[in-house]
Amino acid sequence: MGAITQNKARRATILGSTGSIGVNTLDLIEFASDQGEAEVDIVALTANRNLETLVEQAKKFRPDFAAIGDAALGDDLKSALAGTGIETGAGPDAIEEAAQRDADWVMAAIVGAAGLRPTLQAAKRGADIALANKECLVCAGDVVTAAIEAAGGRLLPVDSEHNAIFQVYDFDRPERISRLILTASGGPFRTWSRDDMATATPAQAVAHPNWSMGAKISVDSATLMNKGLELIEAAHIFPTPHEQIEVLVHPQSVIHSMVEYVDGSVLAQLGTPDMRTPIATTLAWPDRTPSPSAKLDFAQVATLTFEPPDLKRFPCLRLARESIESGGVMPASLNASNEVAVAAFLDGAVKFLDIAAITEQVLEKVSGENSPARLTTLEEVVAADGEARRLAEEFAAARAAA
Ligand code: NAD
Ligand code: MG
Repeated sequence: MGAITQNKARRATILGSTGSIGVNTLDLIEFASDQGEAEVDIVALTANRNLETLVEQAKKFRPDFAAIGDAALGDDLKSALAGTGIETGAGPDAIEEAAQRDADWVMAAIVGAAGLRPTLQAAKRGADIALANKECLVCAGDVVTAAIEAAGGRLLPVDSEHNAIFQVYDFDRPERISRLILTASGGPFRTWSRDDMATATPAQAVAHPNWSMGAKISVDSATLMNKGLELIEAAHIFPTPHEQIEVLVHPQSVIHSMVEYVDGSVLAQLGTPDMRTPIATTLAWPDRTPSPSAKLDFAQVATLTFEPPDLKRFPCLRLARESIESGGVMPASLNASNEVAVAAFLDGAVKFLDIAAITEQVLEKVSGENSPARLTTLEEVVAADGEARRLAEEFAAARAAA
């Protein structure tokens, strides 16, 4: 009997192919193809500075186009791929060009607001957007979702919580949904006191108990800003008001999130903490495709526990909730200042608790200004993001000098 090959052939681009999500995506694609699933043609791969991995991936997966964000590496990329027939490009424009090429499925896996423009380019072409880059929804959710809708593509959430909700969410009857419950592992400092967190090092902060991820999202998981960003992300993806979206700490990371209906039914999606499962659902949806992720062993898991998040020890979650309540420039400002503060922490310039403190300082500063209720244009987003970055850099420098 032949392998089942129901999935339609796809032309795929991976923005941020050298990162944690990018590598998992290519791994999944290779696995599915080895299992006899429909071929996935790679149209474009992109990286920021990791030339070596990009070259290796390009030689193996043979995209039409490979782009590197750091313009200084353009010549090296070109010579490394000379004779392969793969076109190359360098600089931010080349990343956007990669997004414009004719893939019908685009994995948006660049980290941070840097992923916004390329994701928008892909969205405007009507491609299905497998969205890992949550920051682009936090800073420009209305712009991104409007672009996807206008061009007729689908937003397929990769973030494990949103992917879980997507699989059990009745989009025909959103008014019958009473609550979305976003689960959180609690991160590496779940049981730490504020005093202990005050001296936490970057190495301790990126050592996530359950998931292996890029440095920025790992720090976000340690501050719980990740769950705050995910709260805002969920409010953009699902037609459920943010007041009905709750966060629940669930240290085992087995239940990836839940939807509660008005009749009291709670639907959940479960699995091992392996991003290749949510990535696989976005690649095949509404069909399924095999993934190399380990299957869940319930006897081994044995116990699932839950606890409410502690907003005193983890103020970032409170700041995110306040930002979405205020709306306007606040979510974009939250995201931008967090990006700056996390980078400063990873550089050793500021302390772990400064991440929340810097972000709060920025939000206090921008909150007094007149701001539109929602940011509906790229220009508004770029302005809010730029101003918050400038302030965050100022506050981070003051703390580094102190
Ligand atoms: P990562 O740091 O491992 O990889 C980031 C990728 O983006 C790399 O390919 C890098 O080269 C590229 N990149 C970085 N800055 C860039 C720039 N300025 N211009 C162009 N490209 C740039 O990050 P990751 O862990 O793979 O996360 C990627 C995104 O997915 C993030 O938004 C993260 O929040 C989200 N996400 C990740 C996971 C996970 O398990 N890693 C889970 C859920 C969501
Ligand atoms: Mg997540």
